[in-house]
Amino acid sequence: MGGAGQRPQKKLSLTLLLIGLVTLVVLLTSTILLTASYHSKKKSLIETTLNLNQANADRMSRTMDSLFRSMRSSMAYSADKLSRLDVLPSGEVDDYLELMRKSSTYFNSILLVGADGIVRNTSPATLGMEGKPIKSPWALEALGLKSPYLSEPYTAVSTGRMIIFMSEPVYAPDKHYLGQLGGTIYLQDNNILNMIFGNTDDIDASGSYYYIVSSSGHLLFHPDKERINEDVSGNEVVRELMKGNSGQREALNLRGVQLLAGYSSVQANGWGIVVVSPVSFIQKELWSQIRTTLAYTLIPFAVLLLLAVLLAHQLAQPFVMLADLMSRVGKGKAELPELKPHWNREADLLTKAVTIAWSNIQKHTDQLTQAAMTDILTGLANRRSLELTMNQWIAAQFSFSVIVLDVDKFKFVNDTYGHLAGDEVLKQVAGILKMSIRPGDVCCRYGGEEFVVLLPRTKPSDAYTVAERIRKTLEASEVPLAVKVTSSQGIAHYPSHGNTLEELLQQADRAMYSAKGRGRNRTVIADE
Ligand code: GH3
Ligand code: MG
Ligand code: MG
Repeated sequence: MGGAGQRPQKKLSLTLLLIGLVTLVVLLTSTILLTASYHSKKKSLIETTLNLNQANADRMSRTMDSLFRSMRSSMAYSADKLSRLDVLPSGEVDDYLELMRKSSTYFNSILLVGADGIVRNTSPATLGMEGKPIKSPWALEALGLKSPYLSEPYTAVSTGRMIIFMSEPVYAPDKHYLGQLGGTIYLQDNNILNMIFGNTDDIDASGSYYYIVSSSGHLLFHPDKERINEDVSGNEVVRELMKGNSGQREALNLRGVQLLAGYSSVQANGWGIVVVSPVSFIQKELWSQIRTTLAYTLIPFAVLLLLAVLLAHQLAQPFVMLADLMSRVGKGKAELPELKPHWNREADLLTKAVTIAWSNIQKHTDQLTQAAMTDILTGLANRRSLELTMNQWIAAQFSFSVIVLDVDKFKFVNDTYGHLAGDEVLKQVAGILKMSIRPGDVCCRYGGEEFVVLLPRTKPSDAYTVAERIRKTLEASEVPLAVKVTSSQGIAHYPSHGNTLEELLQQADRAMYSAKGRGRNRTVIADE
């Protein structure tokens, strides 16, 4: 217990505690709200993107399917038209191929290969392959198969171009095999596919793009033209496409980028179309949404926080004030500040209780102080009170006279009439003293039958007059005793007779004893 006062432990104040609590709650609430909204938004953004990508892939796949079917039927029609190839002049065949290429724009080039593997006609004629044997293994395979054919992407031996090759067999009316009518698509140039699906070069703002893979998992189209013909069968989305599946999924691509993919396989040719958006874009989008949310909620939250802090402060204030007040009880006199009624029930009750307790304590303290300063028997100020007053006056260098009064032969009164009678005499002396002084004068019972009167701003001669008046009054007063009660007085003056309380009392005492020595019942002023 004793140590607590010497080394006070650091304690958390109520105001700080409430404000901290409120701040914590507001911050936690906003964090939880933001986190929850972040997760739900992320989920819905991912779902929306996946659905959108799949819808796009499906739409492209349907377009590709019908495109491919119409390419195939157009080619079959042309192959049928060329069934009388043997009897047609070569120039007419050239014209026909030219017409076929330019009217449909399906193919970048068209060529007719005879059953002997020699290129007979081409469009455009500038290919420079006419009369030469065909070299590409795919074309040779098509020639051998004598049936409709679609190649995988490959690099043409003659031109070095990345191409795919689609062909249809040409039969004479007598079912005699005449060769293959082939169309090529230049994968890295402008072609029918990017004419229909848009340029794969433009990646939109979301970073989404599409690519097309062949049935063997090779890239037919990709924004990065360098990658065309690259084997991407390791990609899990491509593997799904190679199994003929369509769908959507979040997957890593071969370069380790997390992508949201919608994919769809094309029935007519076994190709696959993949539309992808990088997850990093979703993240960016999310952060921008979070920032917007923050911007909208920051001010309301700040206002809420401010209000809560103010309220917490208001609530804590009476408790803090009362606690401070109570901690001062007993450490000298403290003023009770004005305590207003509080809207909080407990604070109000406590305030009222403290007010009552405080005024009780104050009353008791005042009574005790009063008692400590008063002589019980006579009700005059006591010696402690006298010394206090004298010291204050001396400190203020405030001139005054001291009268020391001693009842003569008081022992005799006591011995003869008893102690109680003696007390009555003392009370009578006190009464006379009270009556004889002016307001501002102080009189006290110094001890036993000795009294002291302080007369502010009074010369020794004037004090002498007062002392004599007292002496005469006492002498003349009716005492219910057979003897007369008289007194002897000694007078000293501040600062003429001394500069300290002790000196002054000693001087006055000495003068009083000198009065006793000169026969009692008289007043003597101390020597200058
Ligand atoms: P003198 O002063 O004239 O020389 O004689 P005295 O008899 O007054 O002197 P002394 O100081 O010897 O006696 C004082 C007496 O006062 C002693 C004591 O019994 C008495 N006395 C002191 N205080 C009280 C008190 O409170 N009540 C009563 N009844 N008597 C008291
Ligand atoms: Mg005495
Ligand atoms: Mg005496």
